[in-house]
Amino acid sequence: MTRDQWEERDDRDEGAGPGEGGGESPGEAVRDGEVRNGAADAAARERFVTGGGGVRLCVAEYGDAALPTVVLVHGYPDSKEVWSQVAGLLADRFHVVLYDVRGHGRSSAPARLKGGFTLERLTEDFLAVADAVSPDRPVHLVGHDWGSVQGWEFVTVGGTEGRISSFTSISGPSLDHFGHWIKRRVRRPTPRRVAQVVGQGAKSWYVYALHTPVLPELAWRGALGKQWPKLLSRAEKLPSDGYPTASLPEDAAHGAWLYRDNVRRRLGSPRTDAYAHVPVQLITPTGDAFLSQRLYDDLEQWVPRLTRRTVAAKHWVPRSRPEQLSRWIGEFVTAHEYGGPAVPAATSTVAGAGGTVLGKAETGAKERFGGQLVLVTGAASGIGRATAFAFAEAGARIVAVDRDAEGAARTAELARLIGAPDAWPETVDVSDAEAMEELAERTAGLHGVPDVVVNNAGIGLAGAFLDTTPEDWKQVLDVNLWGVIHGCRLFGRQMVERGQGGHIVNTASAAAFQPSRSLPAYSTSKAAVLMLSECLRAELAPHGIGVSAICPGLVNTPITRSARFAGVGEEEQERRRARSARLYGLRNYPPEKVARAIVRAVERDSAVVPVTPEARGARLLSRLSPKTLRALARVDPPL
Ligand code: NAD
Repeated sequence: MTRDQWEERDDRDEGAGPGEGGGESPGEAVRDGEVRNGAADAAARERFVTGGGGVRLCVAEYGDAALPTVVLVHGYPDSKEVWSQVAGLLADRFHVVLYDVRGHGRSSAPARLKGGFTLERLTEDFLAVADAVSPDRPVHLVGHDWGSVQGWEFVTVGGTEGRISSFTSISGPSLDHFGHWIKRRVRRPTPRRVAQVVGQGAKSWYVYALHTPVLPELAWRGALGKQWPKLLSRAEKLPSDGYPTASLPEDAAHGAWLYRDNVRRRLGSPRTDAYAHVPVQLITPTGDAFLSQRLYDDLEQWVPRLTRRTVAAKHWVPRSRPEQLSRWIGEFVTAHEYGGPAVPAATSTVAGAGGTVLGKAETGAKERFGGQLVLVTGAASGIGRATAFAFAEAGARIVAVDRDAEGAARTAELARLIGAPDAWPETVDVSDAEAMEELAERTAGLHGVPDVVVNNAGIGLAGAFLDTTPEDWKQVLDVNLWGVIHGCRLFGRQMVERGQGGHIVNTASAAAFQPSRSLPAYSTSKAAVLMLSECLRAELAPHGIGVSAICPGLVNTPITRSARFAGVGEEEQERRRARSARLYGLRNYPPEKVARAIVRAVERDSAVVPVTPEARGARLLSRLSPKTLRALARVDPPL
């Protein structure tokens, strides 16, 4: 909802404001109204519910109340409107409920601020809201930032048992778990553990600041409050869509008590029984400036039913990645409401699709890539197709790009069968700058900015330098190098502008570091791809975008069928193709293994990944004994 719309609604509701601590009994609903959500155009019904100690909580409901209820709790310094886009996206399937935490938005603040924001009081508020909006059925809880910190309290205390079906936690740890995390590291320090505590300590600078008396309130009600929307939009790369709302300075001033009332108390003596009594989905943004991913290392000990997901994004994901969040929340809620796995099965196999690509060890890929958008070029065949399948198995949405329309369509179709929530074919020649520009625009418009781009399309060209014509050079460089340049340029820019990180993979080759008398053009194109990847990696690192160069050796794909041999007639071409195909067949290194290496490279953000033993050997020799490689360069290889 835009600020204008909220202000419009405020005018309409004038005189029906929350007041200070009304004195009604918890759970009593006191008024109704209807507003519209600008982002998703879903109608919201508003009312006030009385929470703990008589505070009046402003509650907004979307969708059919007969559907399963999802309660979204906002963080600091936010109000319930932080969820407006996610709510709009979920409202066709669920009864979605948002509420302003006490002292925020249109909810009243407790008469006495100190002691009025304890987790115990917040739990009373949540139960009052849950009882008002879903008296007969438990609700699904989702929390971001302090909404998640509260959520952990709700799902680990006895009083809420039977009232919550599932919990999705985003960027907000349990203070009890955090307290034990620190204690364990301080009591049994190792250099790594100390570094973890120091690292998180540095990220928590604002927590210390909020504990100082009066100053935070003055800052928020003064310059900081005024500048915050601009700061937030710049630092987090959020769209300027009217959020935060006008209540921000007051929200932020009141919310300082969330920290003062709870942080020192809980971190100092964390509860020892803070076990979650519901299934939990943990969504961790990898670019979160305030929370280290290591905070969740010990979480399985507290949460028997835990699903982990990571998203390449900064802290404010409800605003920056509403589609991704609503998809994950929808999947998790559906799975726990109606039964069935929350995440697609780990080892699905589709006949004719080259078998299962992800093994057991790679099931972590599902946490990482589920719901993400992955674009692969050269996806109609060989390594590209296997890569599209590997990401599909991990639950990613796939854009399969190739100049072979039929092959791309087949890859997209199989990707859907394997586990991709959706997949689309695109017929594009990667060497065509204009076509690539259109592809980038179309993709962003229809599906969003890709989280991972694999520039893989390539062609083979063998033959001595003196036999290679300028046309031969142009053809191989146009596809193998310019295709990669276009992909990096267009999608790299989109990723930078989105500001939420991402990853680019470029398929080079062992030929990039292994000279050869019979592959001058191909090797030159691949060496250029390797160097381009290294340079780009340095440039994009500050934007949280990784770049990997994959360097396979001989892989058994149809590349030998389309490869060309410079300086020989048609008959000889065919003979040599058949010979190469036989040799590649004998070597028989499957493209699925390269696909696995690509998935791992993204997970680990590897810079250069030689795949196959001969590629690893060549890489080693290029460093230890380039002379040996030069000697080998004089021997004719198969392609
Ligand atoms: P492949 O022939 O099986 O697949 C290549 C795909 O790229 C095909 O579907 C083809 O239609 C597509 N393509 C070619 N030119 C295109 C263009 N201009 N626009 C769009 N699509 C185009 O080959 P592969 O072995 O899977 O090769 C994939 C990548 O791996 C290539 O870059 C190749 O150089 C590299 N590579 C392959 C090997 C190997 O031994 N197979 C080794 C090292 C590197």
